[in-house]
Amino acid sequence: MRDEMNSIERVQAAIELREPDRVPVDLHNFQPAAFATGLPMDQVFKSGELLAQSMLDAWREYGHDMILLENGTACNAQACGVKVIYREDAAPAAHIPVLERIEDIDKLTIPDPYTAFPMCEIIKAARILVKEVGDKVWICARADQGPMDLASQVYSMGELLVDMALGEKDEYIFKLLDYCRQVSTRYAYALMETGAHSTSIGEPVAGPDVISPKMYRKYAWRFEKQMVDELKQHGIILHNHICGNTGPIIEDFIATGAQVLEIDHKTDARKIKAAATGRTCLLGNIDTGLLAVGSPAEVETACRDLIEICKPGSGFILGPGCAMGTTTPAENMHSLVESAKKYGRYS
Ligand SMILES: [Zn+2]
Repeated sequence: MRDEMNSIERVQAAIELREPDRVPVDLHNFQPAAFATGLPMDQVFKSGELLAQSMLDAWREYGHDMILLENGTACNAQACGVKVIYREDAAPAAHIPVLERIEDIDKLTIPDPYTAFPMCEIIKAARILVKEVGDKVWICARADQGPMDLASQVYSMGELLVDMALGEKDEYIFKLLDYCRQVSTRYAYALMETGAHSTSIGEPVAGPDVISPKMYRKYAWRFEKQMVDELKQHGIILHNHICGNTGPIIEDFIATGAQVLEIDHKTDARKIKAAATGRTCLLGNIDTGLLAVGSPAEVETACRDLIEICKPGSGFILGPGCAMGTTTPAENMHSLVESAKKYGRYS
């Protein structure tokens, strides 16, 4: 059967909780896409041109509806002055925080995304993607990371968790989180100015695998909410990505108001679908481990089962639960994308 919508209309409908012609599908593939270029991955992740080319090549091969553009989970941190290690075979990683004492938070300045590396390169990549395929495929230019995650890199994660547990430095923790919120918000505006369709924050450190639901509520939530509210006022769609099992924070996660919630495979799809129906759009949550080592048939079965749970009532984009590993086989990514076409039709 022929598709009745293009990818942009399809994703738009899912996010607006209207029924599209079929379930849209994304690939969270910056690592396998960079790997597929044959170049050292660090070279791709430092270059807007190479990053855009890797995304374009992958889109031409797989034909997914949504491109997720990013270079990993240390972009904003590096722009803030955190020392980041680039590797030939994986995403860059934050290494040395910029803030030795949380009391010094007022000394940090908000980076200008148009000049701060590597934000400026991701903006360059977004511009290229918008120019080349921005009328054909949904481009989510990701303002990674979210306030809590960025705070854990700007300041030492260990120290931050201790300070949160003791609850004695809340004044400074809130200042740090607010600084990080401003960094990511400013970057989000710059990414959206390229003509991208949506943006996102990643908040792995805010998930129940790292901090308790109570801590999420007290520290992370209000800064995520503030970011969503501000961007929404400007008509900007923000995805909120929290890794691990977000079941224990499900109501707060939805109450951030983010138009798309990216859910990981550990989250019970049935439960979160029941809670999110009619309220927000879910994106996910195929196991990246299965995508890395399973067979295409196993991927197809997992997609079919998930579509059956999450398709009804719209508000669902099929995709991996998190970033796919570097060596995820091409046939499994094909299987994921084709499953949306095979099982995802609404009529
Ligand atoms: Zn994740």
